[in-house]
Amino acid sequence: MGALFTKARKRLKTAAKHLNIHKDVIERLKYPKETLAANLVIRMDDGSVKSFKAWRCRYDDTRGPTKGGIRFHPAVNLDEVMTLAFWMTFKCAVTNLPYGGGKGGVSVDVHKLSRTELERLSRAYVQAFSRFIGPDRDIPAPDMYTNGIVMAWMADEYAKMADMPQPGVITGKPIALGGSLGRDDATGRGGYYVLRHLEADLGLVPEKTRVILQGFGNASFHCARLLHADGYKIIGLSDSKSAILDPDGMDPIAVMEHKQKTRGLSGAPSNGRLQEMTNAELLEQECDVLIPGAMESQIILENAPNVKAPVILELANGPVTPAADEILHKNGQIVIPDILANAGGVTVSYFEWVQNKAGYYWSLDEVHQKLRPMMQTEARRVWDVKLEKDIDMRTAAYVHALDRIGSAVEAHGTKAFFAQK
Ligand code: GLU
Repeated sequence: MGALFTKARKRLKTAAKHLNIHKDVIERLKYPKETLAANLVIRMDDGSVKSFKAWRCRYDDTRGPTKGGIRFHPAVNLDEVMTLAFWMTFKCAVTNLPYGGGKGGVSVDVHKLSRTELERLSRAYVQAFSRFIGPDRDIPAPDMYTNGIVMAWMADEYAKMADMPQPGVITGKPIALGGSLGRDDATGRGGYYVLRHLEADLGLVPEKTRVILQGFGNASFHCARLLHADGYKIIGLSDSKSAILDPDGMDPIAVMEHKQKTRGLSGAPSNGRLQEMTNAELLEQECDVLIPGAMESQIILENAPNVKAPVILELANGPVTPAADEILHKNGQIVIPDILANAGGVTVSYFEWVQNKAGYYWSLDEVHQKLRPMMQTEARRVWDVKLEKDIDMRTAAYVHALDRIGSAVEAHGTKAFFAQK
């Protein structure tokens, strides 16, 4: 069992201590339900063939079909895919989506592939996992380095194999192919709704709140954009290469335009006090809210004592390790956990799937009007569990999710039921 998975699973034990939950539930959630590995062999543009390791994991489907993205990244491995699938199980339960959790990945550096090679790889993934996935079985979506076009190729490949369109097999599709309005910024928007809803509880006042975001991909950019529009001061941003800080604040839209032009953050428009630094240094800067929105395991045992932000909103999956969590909690810092903070993405994926099944599509306003109360309701519930049990917010989110998963497991009958004569 991999190190990441071992650490992630500990959350289960910690949460179970706070619930009167049946042993069967924990037994069922100890390992993934099923995992499939494949070797994707594709023809490269120069005529040679190359192979890429790929996985899909369905962690648990007690609450519904498994749901979760597909990641294309050189560091993808079985341990990571299993862990991400585990997290998805809890994420879907936190927001009460009728789904279990799954995840997929390919070990590949997309920057080294041409567009046609990327298309072949995406189609090869569906060919390899076609019997594993399905609109009522396991529904993929985008994750790191996969996007709407990749989803379109995958949906098309699935349709060819099924000999009919099956838009509900995958979410995060382009609008023209049955995607949902509002899916593009849903992850960042969900985090934004959660933060704004808990603002008073966290003692934040928008105009006085300095925010640093690590990562400037889809989730972080939209979260920064929405917070900035409401008066929050965005003082730090980063991409995979470098980080920038301006204590006087920056306009994320102007920074994004600069990044698209120059392919970097260096020299981005700011209010005049721009400093450049490393990603690691950025995490340790003075601010009121820190939003890690890039990779997992960024705030770890070694740098957690140097993190100054009183509030940390996890927009990435797993950016704070359990060891770092303990330090932050002891220091009175609040971590709004990934399974709540970034659940907006999978929630609008669910909306997309519902629209595909109904063949009836919603306006952008309808999507926002449905997303906001869902995020707010669950954020409030997690906050209440935290207060009621006097625990950190992550444990509270796991307790809240495990309670829902537990009810679904127990609804199949417990030991007491089967021991009856
Ligand atoms: N990959 C995203 C996540 O980690 C979205 C999953 C989905 O939409 O199914 O939550």
